[in-house]
Amino acid sequence: MSYQSKHIKKETKVGAYLMSLAVLLCSIVIAYYVRNSQEKALATILDGQAKRTELKLIQSTEQLIGELNAMSKRWVNNNRTKEPIWRADAKDFVARLTGVTSLWWVNTERQFQWGESLESNHIEKINELLKDVEIKEILATIPRNYRPEFSRTFDYPDGKWLYIFVPIGSGLNFDGSFVIEVNIKSFINERLGDPMASGFYTQAVAKEEVVYSNGEHLEKSSYFASVTLNLDSDQDGWEFRVYPVPETSQIILSPLPYFIVGAGFMISLLFLVALLSRLKARNQSMELGKQISETEKVQFELEYLANHDTLTHLPNRHYISRFIEQKVKQGLLSNQKFTLLFIDLDHFKDINDTLGHSVGDETLKKLPVLFNRVFRHDDVIARMGGDEFVVYLPGEMDMSQVEKLVKRFLRYLEYPIDIGEHQIRLTGSVGVAFFPEHGTNVVELLSHADAALYRAKDDGRNTYAIYDSEIEQKAKDRVELISRLHTANDRDEFEVFFQPRHELDNQKIIGAEALLRWRPNEATLIKPEKFIELLEETALIIPVTWKMFEKSCLQFKQLLEINHELSLSFNISAKQLEHPDFIKKLRVLLSKTNFPATQLELELTEQTLIQNVDNSRYILKNLKKMGISVAIDDFGTGYSSLSYLKNFPVDVLKIDQSFIRDIEIDSDDLELVKTMIAMGKNLNITTVAEGVENIQQLNLLKEEKCQQAQGYYFNKPMPFEQFKKLLSDAEGS
Ligand code: C2E
Ligand code: CA
Ligand code: CA
Repeated sequence: MSYQSKHIKKETKVGAYLMSLAVLLCSIVIAYYVRNSQEKALATILDGQAKRTELKLIQSTEQLIGELNAMSKRWVNNNRTKEPIWRADAKDFVARLTGVTSLWWVNTERQFQWGESLESNHIEKINELLKDVEIKEILATIPRNYRPEFSRTFDYPDGKWLYIFVPIGSGLNFDGSFVIEVNIKSFINERLGDPMASGFYTQAVAKEEVVYSNGEHLEKSSYFASVTLNLDSDQDGWEFRVYPVPETSQIILSPLPYFIVGAGFMISLLFLVALLSRLKARNQSMELGKQISETEKVQFELEYLANHDTLTHLPNRHYISRFIEQKVKQGLLSNQKFTLLFIDLDHFKDINDTLGHSVGDETLKKLPVLFNRVFRHDDVIARMGGDEFVVYLPGEMDMSQVEKLVKRFLRYLEYPIDIGEHQIRLTGSVGVAFFPEHGTNVVELLSHADAALYRAKDDGRNTYAIYDSEIEQKAKDRVELISRLHTANDRDEFEVFFQPRHELDNQKIIGAEALLRWRPNEATLIKPEKFIELLEETALIIPVTWKMFEKSCLQFKQLLEINHELSLSFNISAKQLEHPDFIKKLRVLLSKTNFPATQLELELTEQTLIQNVDNSRYILKNLKKMGISVAIDDFGTGYSSLSYLKNFPVDVLKIDQSFIRDIEIDSDDLELVKTMIAMGKNLNITTVAEGVENIQQLNLLKEEKCQQAQGYYFNKPMPFEQFKKLLSDAEGS
């Protein structure tokens, strides 16, 4: 990943975090606002409740004081109410007013006089109380102020109590006080009612002491509203604190804000996850997109490479095979016909061998232009490999049309092609097969076009052949022959014949050439021309000739006992020579058969030598070291100049029999043979004439000082025993 995209990604990631943080903050703000409103609502409600509580308490206290005042007025008016009447009143008073447990009269001497109480022991309690300093103080104050007084709260085991004093009359009429005993809890409970019904608890605090509470403990952090009730100016007021019962808090202070924050948190989290995963997906898809386009490119290139030849850029074997396969399928369905041409350039190998592979490649590169001049746009031309091409021609064509086209192609092919300083002249051979007449699948069609091509080559090249029954038979024969050669090798049906080589001076046998023969049965003997090419094609040549080589060495050793100067010539094909183990195997062979290297000569053709010059040099150097001599076989038929002779350390030139054949009638041939002999002499190389069939040829060669000869004039190739007898007879005479 580049720095750029990393940077962008980081930025967008930060963006995602900020966005989700914003969502979270928003939800917190909303939650805070909601909470705030809830709290405000609660505060308002609590304030109202506190006011109501205050009002209720003031009203009920005033009612209490008012009734006592009325009683006091009646007392004065009646000049002191009669005891039974007053007591009845007091009884009613105490019974009627919940929380008030007793009412009594204290005279001006501050002595208890009459009283009504719900309790039995009130007299002692009162007497005890009247001794209290504060109570004494209150009773002393009343005749000065003539107004109601409230005691402090008294803590008794049965609760907190309060005493209220109301003066009876004033001035001269003053006649002591009425005192009521109030149970704070039950008095206020009665006034405020059930807290669960109101929804609020109330707590009263006097001098930091809780004097009343109808609910649970009020926590410091809890919400409350307070009012201070001050009924008696001499005393500190009571602070009434009103706070909600849990149900009320739950309703008003609903957990909505927490939900909002929670929801906000969840949303921001989801938001973050969504953003990040979208970001990741986007990056991934960007990356993937890049990868895909790269993969597509690679795929395209691979596909192109798989389907095209890199040198000529023509479709390749793979492509054309599939293409034809498709066309066969279509053709079988819809009865569409087509024609295949199998083209092979004649002797193209020689261009590679003599001018180099780069010239060969450049030549091949020029071919598509040529093809385009001859073939139509919808024809498909493919390179099968090497110098082989296949052309697909759609539609039905008759023989004459195909002939015209192929002839035109062969004519165009002959135009010289300039490659650097070289001017290349090509010819080609063409095999033709028709679909569906000559096959209904790719393999069949191609192999039949190929078989026709073989036929064209057999016919001397630079021509064409259309597949027919004869070619079909030949192709079948070829396949059959290959399989027979394999079994022949397995069954050791090959043997070696020997053709003697003679010194021309004295006509003595100086050696022999080992020549391969195939004896499939006792009565039949087959010459190499029938099978040697196939042996080379199938690489059977290697095992077969090694076996024959060994056999010849062992046999020839017997002859060396007769004449130890004899030399054995053995033909080595290019395929064999190219094999990396060649020298090693040769060494093994010599040591195994104990055959003297000095009596061995290997025959190599010019073609074989120039095919791989480096390898040839290496081989020749090693052969020389071993003491084995080298003959150039079929000399003069090769493509090459004779200059290479200087580069290769050869011992013998075997002038090809095609020059000898007409030497007595063809002066050109004679000239050529003379030149070859002179050249041999110059380079100190022994010259051998091949295929000497008559005395005239022999005499001409003798005249030209050709040193050795081989041919039917002397002997045909013969089995070993026959050759051995021939030698023995010659030595004996
Ligand atoms: P080559 O090496 O040029 O062998 C000489 C061929 O000329 C032999 O043919 C021989 O029978 C034939 N010949 C000899 N004298 C005359 C003559 O006076 N007139 C005529 N018309 N022909 C004559 P052959 O035995 O049929 O061998 C053909 C070719 O097969 C050989 O040509 C050689 O290239 C190849 N060959 C034979 N044996 C072997 C072998 O063991 N290994 C390899 N690699 N190639 C072999
Ligand atoms: Ca030979
Ligand atoms: Ca030869």
